[in-house]
Amino acid sequence: MTQPPEATVEAVRYAVSVLPADDINFNAYALYVQRRRDGWGITDGAGWVETRTGTWTLDHYEALTFPTPEPALALAQRFALRRTVNGISVTEAYQRTHPATTTPPRHRPAGTNAEQCPACHGTNPDWPFLCPGPPAAPAAPEEPQ
Ligand SMILES: [Zn+2]
Repeated sequence: MTQPPEATVEAVRYAVSVLPADDINFNAYALYVQRRRDGWGITDGAGWVETRTGTWTLDHYEALTFPTPEPALALAQRFALRRTVNGISVTEAYQRTHPATTTPPRHRPAGTNAEQCPACHGTNPDWPFLCPGPPAAPAAPEEPQ
């Protein structure tokens, strides 16, 4: 009786996405360059890329196939940039999960017309509408005596 051969390990799929791997939407937007019987194709898990212009097919046998993964990865990277899921572009999905951090507006010097101060804008300060100025710096610690 012959023994079965040793088990082998082989990478047969690459994930391509604009979103970082820990993004909650990664799986929805990821494209996969996956080994097929006759080469490498690009799939979203359901359909396959049929042409270099990015038309899709559900027919496994109509899929565009590359002899090596590199050209498929390059094409998948291009398609990943313009990927849309449920009408939401990957750019919009990224912006939703990675909102831009903005610095809060700062007050002008105390006594400035509040209408000209970005931090006072919209706060309707009391008459005479003057900016209170930036918050005071913390007091210096007293020197020991
Ligand atoms: Zn102000």
